[in-house]
Amino acid sequence: MFEKSPLTSGEQRVPAPIFRKGLNLKHAVAGTLARDYHSQLIAEIKSSNFTWRNGRLVVHLATEFGFCYGVDRAVDYAYQTRARFPDRRVYLTGEIIHNPQVNTLLRQAGIGFLSDPGQSVEQVDSADVVILPAFGVSIDALQQLDRRGCTLIDTTCGSVLNVWKAVKRYTAEGFTAVIHGKVHHEETKATASQALIAENGRYLIILDRDEATLVCDLIRGLASVNQFQAAFSEACSPGFDPVADLCRVGLANQTTMLMSESLEIGEMIRLAMIAQYGQNAVGNHYQAFETICSATQDRQDAVNSLLGGQQFDLAVVIGGYNSSNTRNLARICAERLPTYHIAEADCLISVEDIRHRPAGGPPSSGGPGNVTEITSSNWLPSSDVVHVAVTAGASTPDSIVGNVISRLATFANA
Ligand code: SF4
Repeated sequence: MFEKSPLTSGEQRVPAPIFRKGLNLKHAVAGTLARDYHSQLIAEIKSSNFTWRNGRLVVHLATEFGFCYGVDRAVDYAYQTRARFPDRRVYLTGEIIHNPQVNTLLRQAGIGFLSDPGQSVEQVDSADVVILPAFGVSIDALQQLDRRGCTLIDTTCGSVLNVWKAVKRYTAEGFTAVIHGKVHHEETKATASQALIAENGRYLIILDRDEATLVCDLIRGLASVNQFQAAFSEACSPGFDPVADLCRVGLANQTTMLMSESLEIGEMIRLAMIAQYGQNAVGNHYQAFETICSATQDRQDAVNSLLGGQQFDLAVVIGGYNSSNTRNLARICAERLPTYHIAEADCLISVEDIRHRPAGGPPSSGGPGNVTEITSSNWLPSSDVVHVAVTAGASTPDSIVGNVISRLATFANA
């Protein structure tokens, strides 16, 4: 059931055991998962063609929303780990997923967080168990844990592993890995570290179209090295040479980015390579591999389809404020109608007021300082019927979505 970690540094030391396929205790934790994450109301709405009327409120739920396969698996493995090692200290390296309520429930289950103040990898020893999150950890972090000799439970999502494969292939072939992602996001940091496995491996992280424009100008010889350094000092591998290292690039994505923006950035870079090297040589200078995960894509497609079908009074998007895929769902909605990105049911304060993260605008780099909440008034129209589009990010359980919809109904019918 478990393997030896491949990251051994010496012949003498016994490598840390690493579990990658669960702990055969799915049945033992199924009841807890159903209690904490299931919602009877959501089950009913799904069976009613994703529409629910209650008084003057009509909720229209996107057909794909909430927990994705990777998050489902990671949370399941965390509970299995607790059940399998009841007498051992169990830690997460940090948030298992970007949802505060899920992380609180895991703390209540007795799982510690090495990212908490006063906690660190240094306190871990071979008797301890450490769970790696769905978005993976950097190679440095994995090597550090391996040196402590602790048991590792690896929940890294298969879709993230696919991105790592693409990045390793690019860099092994002498291409710079250009990653459309957020510099401070754990997944992107882990993905970038994969580029450094190859000798002379290089990476560059691009956040959005504006940054892509600058990179394209550099490729065409229209921007200066100083401009590059001002924009990307934190976003590229050590010793990055923007002239030499942008001659051949391979594009990958953080799995939760906005698909339309990733495609646009890829096309911008491809055209810049054609302008600089000619159509016939583009294959030697640009490669792309689609690495937005299918769960992210399905949720973006579903909300686009929902909004394309009819008019709504407002949209409510539910998920952690630091959840990249939730923020992108909110961006999609905010382009078309009043949108409130909320973390939980309590964000609906009253008929008048709502606490939410402003939706829309350009993506932020994903650092902790970007989690901003404001309070707005007059969010709920007083019309006879209120049509609300609802969706939730891949790290939001049904239980939270159900609680939000119940509270919506309370206020709509107050
Ligand atoms: S959002 Fe995609 S990559 Fe991330 S855990 Fe879910 S399925 Fe995996």
